[in-house]
Amino acid sequence: MEERSLVVIKPDGVVRGLTGKIISRFEEVGLKLVAAKLLKVTKSLAEKHYPGDREAWLRGMGEKTLENYKKFKVDPIKMLGTNDTHEIGLMIQKWLVDYISSGPVLAFVVEGPHAVELVRKICGNTLPLLSAPGTIRGDYAFDSSYLANTGKRAIKNLVHSSGSIEEAQYEIPLWFSSSEIFQYERVEEKVMR
Ligand code: GDP
Ligand code: MG
Repeated sequence: MEERSLVVIKPDGVVRGLTGKIISRFEEVGLKLVAAKLLKVTKSLAEKHYPGDREAWLRGMGEKTLENYKKFKVDPIKMLGTNDTHEIGLMIQKWLVDYISSGPVLAFVVEGPHAVELVRKICGNTLPLLSAPGTIRGDYAFDSSYLANTGKRAIKNLVHSSGSIEEAQYEIPLWFSSSEIFQYERVEEKVMR
């Protein structure tokens, strides 16, 4: 049951002064903060975090974009110069690397039962246009695929969070060494479990 998840408050969250509010959401639900740091992401870390060689992820990004364009009656060739899902995925990956390395970010790890799923719920849908009120993205952002792709940039959605237990296990050691991760007891543990 005990899981860890990586959360990164992206540059827009930091410059908008939302770091405290965002961290509170996880603390208040009972998740334990076990690591945290403010840093400027290097290209090398960004490229490991968003690996351009994950074919399924690249194609998924491309497919999502094509569906979106269909909905808004936008011609992908006119807008992006291609309708190939791999090519579009690569383009978005580059936008993501540029976004996450564009300014300081606050990275942290939270721990607790169902941490990965809980964190995703608290963050809300990837697209702020669709994320529910009460979630971080739903409360503090309005961006959409359409706006982002038209501006040739990543969707500004304030936070990254690990998408699965496997993703968390891959991501956490990229961002933190084991000596930067702490163990302690939260007072709520006795009450909430
Ligand atoms: P997440 O796990 O909810 O962050 O979403 P994904 O792993 O699917 O995507 C990673 C990041 O890529 C998102 O957080 C957005 O910043 C960005 N992104 C996702 N979909 C799109 C899209 O269709 N267009 C653009 N420009 N960026 C996207
Ligand atoms: Mg993801």
